[in-house]
Amino acid sequence: MKKSTICILLAVFCGMQMLVAQVGEICKWDSDRQAAIVLTFDDWSPGQQPIVPGELKSRNLNATFFIETSLVANWNHDWPTVLTTAADGNEIGNHTKSHPHLLTQNATQLNTEIRAARAIIDGHVLNQKATSFAYPFGEGSGNTSKDIEIRDSLKASGHIAARGVSVGNYGYNFATTDDDYFKIMTYPMCSGTTLDNFKGQVTQIKNGGGLLTVLYHSIDNANNSYSDTWYCQVKQTALQAQLDHLVTLKDQVWITTFGQAVKYHKERNCAQLTQTGTTGTTMSFTLSDTLSNNDLYNQPLSLKIFRNGINYSTATQNGLPLVIDGVVHDSIVFRAVPDAGEIVLTIGSLGFEPGVADNAGIRVFQDASSSLLTIQTLKPLLNANISILDLSGQEVLVLKNETVLSAVRMDVSSLSAGMYVVRASSGETVRVQKFALLK
Ligand SMILES: [Zn+2]
Repeated sequence: MKKSTICILLAVFCGMQMLVAQVGEICKWDSDRQAAIVLTFDDWSPGQQPIVPGELKSRNLNATFFIETSLVANWNHDWPTVLTTAADGNEIGNHTKSHPHLLTQNATQLNTEIRAARAIIDGHVLNQKATSFAYPFGEGSGNTSKDIEIRDSLKASGHIAARGVSVGNYGYNFATTDDDYFKIMTYPMCSGTTLDNFKGQVTQIKNGGGLLTVLYHSIDNANNSYSDTWYCQVKQTALQAQLDHLVTLKDQVWITTFGQAVKYHKERNCAQLTQTGTTGTTMSFTLSDTLSNNDLYNQPLSLKIFRNGINYSTATQNGLPLVIDGVVHDSIVFRAVPDAGEIVLTIGSLGFEPGVADNAGIRVFQDASSSLLTIQTLKPLLNANISILDLSGQEVLVLKNETVLSAVRMDVSSLSAGMYVVRASSGETVRVQKFALLK
């Protein structure tokens, strides 16, 4: 044996659990963004409809409008304007029928204000279900028996979450029980809220990884053309500056509707990604969650699948093509819906982006015995991880933290004949080489 060959190392075979863990992960938020922000507009007050949907649309943003059904007509905005707003991708949420203090309502009144109001919205807005709720005056997210009765009424009428008026939810684990989703907090905007205040909230949620809902009431222009002056007015120019700031952060923060953010978070908290098979050309797995209502909980989750040197050419779910969002470090990111069929990745080619890999820097030789593989690197590698991958990118053998002066040996007697990839990584250096194992 040459002196520079460090040792003959016994290969470690990864157990099934470990292999599953190495397939990839479910992103915390859509497209692997750091946090989520939802803009919510309460009461459908008179300046909102003429100003907000247009400002959102011009920036390709969406928001949630919590409407009181009895005020839709009263404040001079009829249902067609609500429908137009919904058709742009905005969410129409339930903010009761007449905006009462819910803590003072009896069971019959709660039924009218919660269940009947939802039915009115659903009867008009046919392209979505009003499953999101905002408490008038924030009443209902507390812990008295009346609060609990209110939340029971929300759950029984098919709502999945509710927003109050107090501040919070900066960390990712803001909801660990179903009831917690009915106590979602917010950041209330008012006339005195500066752009720096707003930016500070955005930074805080970015750092915390949680869900920031922002609460708006009156919106109007410089001349108060819509007479929307009744509560905590935010001027159109201030709103524009806030939206412009969000647009600059779209790659880092998911700006979405209340319903989509809640569904994503709920699904992700009970979802599992499981590898189900590999062939020489495909890798397949399932994404499932424990939420039983698949018609409601069909928000796509972003998956980050580790490439391990594989370029996947296509992704499908239940035979239908999925859009691959992109490559983040050495993972591909795409969206799939839990419990909506098998996900299959098709392998295109092997390799890394230029500058990341040095395919020429590694050689593989098989001993005559066929049970030992010599992996030679042309330059020394410190603290390297040496992996043997099958063509689906699954790690089948691994050596960790090796110092390779020129070569290492691996026991490959557990592997059957076929094509494999050897991957050696040390810090930023990644070397990968495809080889045939003969038996
Ligand atoms: Zn309100």
